[in-house]
Amino acid sequence: MAEQNAQGCSGDCSSCGESCAQRDPKSLIEPTGEYNDIKHVIGVVSGKGGVGKSMTASMLAVLLKRMGRSVGLLDADITGPSIPKTFGISARAMQNEIGILPAETKTGIKLISINMMLEEKDSPVLWRGPIIAGAVKQFWHDVVWGALDYLIIDCPPGTGDVPLTVFQSIPLDGVVIVTSPQDLVALIVKKAYNMARMMDIPVLGIIENMSYAVCPDCGKKIELFGSGSESAAEELGVPLLAKMPIDPSLSRMVDNGEFERFDCDYLVPAAEAIDKKLNKQA
Ligand code: ADP
Repeated sequence: MAEQNAQGCSGDCSSCGESCAQRDPKSLIEPTGEYNDIKHVIGVVSGKGGVGKSMTASMLAVLLKRMGRSVGLLDADITGPSIPKTFGISARAMQNEIGILPAETKTGIKLISINMMLEEKDSPVLWRGPIIAGAVKQFWHDVVWGALDYLIIDCPPGTGDVPLTVFQSIPLDGVVIVTSPQDLVALIVKKAYNMARMMDIPVLGIIENMSYAVCPDCGKKIELFGSGSESAAEELGVPLLAKMPIDPSLSRMVDNGEFERFDCDYLVPAAEAIDKKLNKQA
């Protein structure tokens, strides 16, 4: 047996659940299921809710799929799971002897969400942090994802229990931070950024949502929430991957469950940059 120091620590994190300062953050990483072969895992995070994180995660999944990649989408925003509705999926998840079967969207994105487990879609998920975190880990391990180029995880907003579990237990290749312009300028995203850095997870870049609106009469771009995001991103030392405007046609498609039909290219530079960076590492 390994020798213990005065605090009772043997230095072997594999047999210990304590979250102490000496712990290697990567030591809590859990393997995915034996039927899965997932090349890259990307977390989509935000400093706070309502900035369009789920829409961004969904759009990146659709764009990577359009680029010919095999893609899965794990809705870990457990207390506000909106992704199945975005893709028009209302069926409950099925299970067989090898695990939980994800739904498949019209274009072939594999999808799992707590909403697909609930009897009533509008019931609130009244679970405490550790239970929610356990459900996310189960989605990572027990869902039969099969072979994927990318698994995109829509993380809950902020830096609480569940995002921490995602960061600690799932081997993320990197995170994308979604922000509104004013949060970026006010550096509210910095906490999400610092959390990733502290856990040794690369920040792939920032996507600014609700950057501007286009006047339907004259076509003028209106920066509703101010500007200055380039210098704020520079201050963090993270690339600003793309800017997405407020586009009512997008929220209409979300509401109608037809999101895969969007024909805008706002996040194409972001999807291409991510694919270029991660596939180069493969
Ligand atoms: P979050 O995941 O950050 O809480 P959501 O992605 O659920 O945010 O977005 C919140 C709401 O705003 C949703 O109704 C979504 O359809 C809408 N929305 C987000 N981004 C845009 C956009 N660029 N244009 C139009 N509506 C948007």
